[in-house]
Amino acid sequence: MAMVSFKSTVIKNLFSKPKTRKVEKEFPAGTRGHVENDMDLCILCGLCSIKCPTHAITVDKNEKTWSIRPMSCIQCRCCVDNCPKKSLSMGLRFQEPGPEKVTRTFKQSEKAIAAQEALMKAAKERAAAAAAAKAAAAGNAAPAAGAAPAAKPANPAPTGAQQVAAAAAKAAESEKKDE
Ligand code: SF4
Ligand code: SF4
Repeated sequence: MAMVSFKSTVIKNLFSKPKTRKVEKEFPAGTRGHVENDMDLCILCGLCSIKCPTHAITVDKNEKTWSIRPMSCIQCRCCVDNCPKKSLSMGLRFQEPGPEKVTRTFKQSEKAIAAQEALMKAAKERAAAAAAAKAAAAGNAAPAAGAAPAAKPANPAPTGAQQVAAAAAKAAESEKKDE
């Protein structure tokens, strides 16, 4: 009797749907799975590292690297919202579980390094130009002690009235001589 019951259970299970649900392979849009960084945009300012409540992010400016410990990340999105270059985003997939604490390290791209150097150079040039303009303005307002006085402008050309007055004076002088 038990054998008949066993066989009927086997046959029933062979032709029935599984009792388990299929795991969704696609995550819905907006899922906070993990943090991704576009190293073409990242300027290694370190703001994400400062804002992260769990200290999951490390920025090494000397090595030009950005690192994250996914196991420490609580997917709060604080770093993404505070990144000034919008290089951070939330990827859909969750971190795979594992026995070790993983640290993912990414190197700043050559493109980002070049862009950052160009920006710094432009900023330095602007600062130098501003300092030079400020110094020139200060020099005009108050000449430095011991500095040579500004050269007087060359005699301007006589105006028409001055020419008439000079001619009249000359004529009066010659009249006096004739007397
Ligand atoms: S990811 Fe954004 S906030 Fe973090 S270091 Fe890079 S630029 Fe700065
Ligand atoms: S999502 Fe939150 S916890 Fe994760 S790295 Fe960004 S700031 Fe830190």
